[in-house]
Amino acid sequence: MTQPSPTSSRPVRTRIAPSPTGFPHVGTAYIALFNLAFAKAHGGEFILRIEDTDQARSTAQSEQMILDALRWVGLDWAEGPDVGGPHAPYRQSERGDIYKKYAQQLLDDEHAFRCFCTPDELDAMRAEQMARGETPRYDGRYADLPRAESDKMADAGKPFVIRMRVPKDGVCKVEDMLRGTVEIPWEQVDMQVLLKTDGLPTYHLANVIDDHLMQITHVLRGEEWLNSAPKHQLLYDYFGWEMPVLCHMPLLRNPDKSKLSKRKNPTSITYYRDAGVLPEALLNYLGRMGYSMPNDEEKFTLKEMIASFDIQRVSLGGPIFDIEKLNWLNAEWLRALTPEQLKNKILEWANDSDKLTAMAAAIQPRIELLSDAVNWGGFYFQNLPDIKAEDFAHKNLSPEQIMEILQLTLWQLEALPTWSEQNIYTVIKGMADALDIKMRDFIAPFFIAIAGSSSSTPVMNSMWIIGADMTLTRLRHAIDVLGGLGKKKLKKLEKQAAELPDLLAGDEE
Ligand code: GLU
Repeated sequence: MTQPSPTSSRPVRTRIAPSPTGFPHVGTAYIALFNLAFAKAHGGEFILRIEDTDQARSTAQSEQMILDALRWVGLDWAEGPDVGGPHAPYRQSERGDIYKKYAQQLLDDEHAFRCFCTPDELDAMRAEQMARGETPRYDGRYADLPRAESDKMADAGKPFVIRMRVPKDGVCKVEDMLRGTVEIPWEQVDMQVLLKTDGLPTYHLANVIDDHLMQITHVLRGEEWLNSAPKHQLLYDYFGWEMPVLCHMPLLRNPDKSKLSKRKNPTSITYYRDAGVLPEALLNYLGRMGYSMPNDEEKFTLKEMIASFDIQRVSLGGPIFDIEKLNWLNAEWLRALTPEQLKNKILEWANDSDKLTAMAAAIQPRIELLSDAVNWGGFYFQNLPDIKAEDFAHKNLSPEQIMEILQLTLWQLEALPTWSEQNIYTVIKGMADALDIKMRDFIAPFFIAIAGSSSSTPVMNSMWIIGADMTLTRLRHAIDVLGGLGKKKLKKLEKQAAELPDLLAGDEE
């Protein structure tokens, strides 16, 4: 049965608006799931928009991975960059003229102003405020510049950004579906940059304009955006538009209650796919994050979730994303299959053509019989190799040194913009040189961490084949197996990492 939509009389439309700046995060699937369930429960539509206004960090590779991962997990959108729709384009980088027009309107209506501060001036402002013990923020120095003068400076070619005006005092009241009225003092709200020097919008401007033009009625998003809500509300007021109903979802957390981070838990959907979690089980698990079904069932399908969906059953305590519980739930899904179905699932999972071809190329020089593929190729499909601290024993490296090598390299690999064999090689070779360790010695622990054995296919090629998420997870696991690095040690290593040369300098990707 379709439920009436809380406080909007328009047909319900929700969206997921990922920024394509990294791996497909489980948090994105979590928010997408609740947006989809909400829309479907109210007979509405769910759409997907790509927020790639951060041109320096957005990549086409990341966008593709996010779309693939959301589809894999079983979510589907009625409109989006890949399927089109009446509000196309759905990629913000293709909507530049729209944002410019609305920024100009805000400027003409005196809701925004040009700010001509240079980066140096902003740095100095920041430094002075910090020296006085204040929170750094824009001090409004160009807010009252007469328009004629501002026009003159702009015409003379002086670079500027456009900032929004914000009330100086009083409180902003924001309505949230789960939290009721949230009060945020205006003095905590910055005069946000809306349009950057290069004429591109910031997230805030583009997000508000697109939600309006795409007729979004309800915005379910992560709690980290709650502090941005006053800016958005003000922009809707300035434009005279109806604001979507807001709902800030609790953030996913590590078992130690800290914000879910890849340092403590794998966070990429592709890792869970490669480890052999069923998409239905992952979606089911995400559906339990802060949410309970009416009769507290643990195992349910997306269809069942939609059929009884009620946003008010979301509880605000930080939901814990716990791999062991996820594995337990996955096992429930596996046990419910017939052997025939399970066989098909296994074949489907292993039938990753690119990975299989790369693996075949790697083992080809080493095998005599097809059956040798099991010994030489098994680790490509494993989750974590079965390793012990003794496996790392090395004549020239202490366990302590090995953990340092693995950790320093892990950070470098984590920061790679593109997961290519060349980049992996550049990092590993660069690290061996920087730490003045012979490549032969340096690489040895990586064989154990990745392949579980010192006699295996070339390890940098293996890392490339199993992918970034799986590689990083196995390196973290290796450090744990070796006893782990304490807080103090990590601090010291962080310092050392900061002093390392930029290994990818000159890399164009
Ligand atoms: N692009 C934002 C993100 O990556 C979207 C936030 C929102 O939903 O407003 O999370």
